[in-house]
Amino acid sequence: LFSLVRRGISDFAKDPAKTVIETHEGTRFSYSDLLARSGAYAAALVAAGVAPGDRVAVQAEKSAEFVFLYLGAVRAGAVFLPLNTAYTPAEIGYFLGDAAPTVFVCDPGKREALGTATASVRHVWTLDGAGKGSAADAADGQDGAAFADVPRGPEDLAAILYTSGTTGRSKGAMLSHDNLASNALVMVEAWRFTADDVLIHALPVFHTHGLFVATNTVLASGGTMLFLPRLDVKAILERMPRATAMMGVPTFYTRLLKEPGLTKEVARTIRLFTSGSAPLLAETHREWQARTGHAILERYGMTETNMSTSNPYDGERIAGTVGFPLPGVDLRVVDPETGAPLGPDEVGMIEVKGANVFKGYWRMPEKTAAEFKPDGFFITGDLGKVDGKGYVHIVGRGKDLIISGGFNVYPKEVETEIDGLDGIVESAVIGLPHPDFGEAVTAVVVGGAGAPDEAAVVADLEGRLAKFKCPKRVLFVDELPRNTMGKVQKNLLRDEYKGLFG
Ligand code: ATP
Ligand code: MG
Repeated sequence: LFSLVRRGISDFAKDPAKTVIETHEGTRFSYSDLLARSGAYAAALVAAGVAPGDRVAVQAEKSAEFVFLYLGAVRAGAVFLPLNTAYTPAEIGYFLGDAAPTVFVCDPGKREALGTATASVRHVWTLDGAGKGSAADAADGQDGAAFADVPRGPEDLAAILYTSGTTGRSKGAMLSHDNLASNALVMVEAWRFTADDVLIHALPVFHTHGLFVATNTVLASGGTMLFLPRLDVKAILERMPRATAMMGVPTFYTRLLKEPGLTKEVARTIRLFTSGSAPLLAETHREWQARTGHAILERYGMTETNMSTSNPYDGERIAGTVGFPLPGVDLRVVDPETGAPLGPDEVGMIEVKGANVFKGYWRMPEKTAAEFKPDGFFITGDLGKVDGKGYVHIVGRGKDLIISGGFNVYPKEVETEIDGLDGIVESAVIGLPHPDFGEAVTAVVVGGAGAPDEAAVVADLEGRLAKFKCPKRVLFVDELPRNTMGKVQKNLLRDEYKGLFG
């Protein structure tokens, strides 16, 4: 993986003094800083007894040093294991027990609260959002430039990344050097990244989107990243006139659209906006195009598979689709019951195979075996279809499928109808236990000014959807529960309203 970064520096940038990361305070780190600092972290880890294959777990705020530590762990032959900054001490205790890292790096402000959660770990180091702490101190004492990378093969693990936990407890996805490096190269090609690119990076770095999709792609092309600790629309708009690209989750786009400062002029130097991690509403896609002149490029991936599909760079980016399988990715849609391949426009389970697909779930051999087909395809858990032109559509997660009175209801179809009503901001359609129907279709809706009431929504839908798809109830809320990646947490809604139908 790191040889890819070297390639990025030498083949494309040819300029070690070039900025790789500019922090939100304006501090610039060059590619030679990156080489020296990641080497220093690698040397510090090796000196602490980290052996090839050992895990280095990190729960720390986003910073340039975080990226250098990531690359340092990889260069030391270790397995980098970032953890969501929102995890509580109890959750960290679980993950540390599960992953058994040799080193754990945490925020100095959280050190004390973690208490016995870190008891099993040999070394506990610290790193704060400004890049200071005992981990940075350990690196300071090393000669980073002299560090020789610990050799690793393409199939060796480079990282374990926990999934977002949208459908249940997060699972540790084991990713090899080849999984990450091959996918980074595919993204560089597919999205035309070069050393001239300047990417607005406001995503978290503990998730595949911010760490691998965004960071690895830029590193492999020798470009520059403008780091922001979180989604900050003002700061994004300030930086936009000197950026060429931005990668975001749908929330980035809906929030930016509320800013009067979002204009064609401010986005003049941008060549690419991408969206992923959650479905982008077709309406957001259209509004964005009208306001900025840019068609957002929507793509689809998961922690387990890296990027699997993408709308085309050249060619039509179709709202509501996630585009075509990327080079090297085999994708098929099958009948979830029989496994039989389905034809165009038939909805079924999406399965993928390729160099992008992970090595299995950490310490979950049964779960791993259950999610792979004998011919090597990984069962994504997402339902979708491929249309006549070859574009992939995601219709939702298998776990969110509603079976009401024996009929399958795809929440997205109902949500699309509801979202199209005047005065409705957004909706989440879920199935709740019902004595007669098994599950009852229920809509949880965010209404804006002039929103219709429950009876009006139902009456409207009854004219356009088959009776069994129409919500039995429409519940109005102020906002939908979302996790850090902007994903709607339907499991929380199902839980909250589980007694609605008795
Ligand atoms: P968990 O597996 O722990 O329940 P998660 O699936 O949300 O959490 P991630 O790996 O972060 O964890 O997310 C991958 C999922 O995100 C995909 O399986 C898919 O459901 C969804 N997703 C990603 N990109 C898109 C997209 N462009 N459109 C619709 N859904 C998407
Ligand atoms: Mg998942």
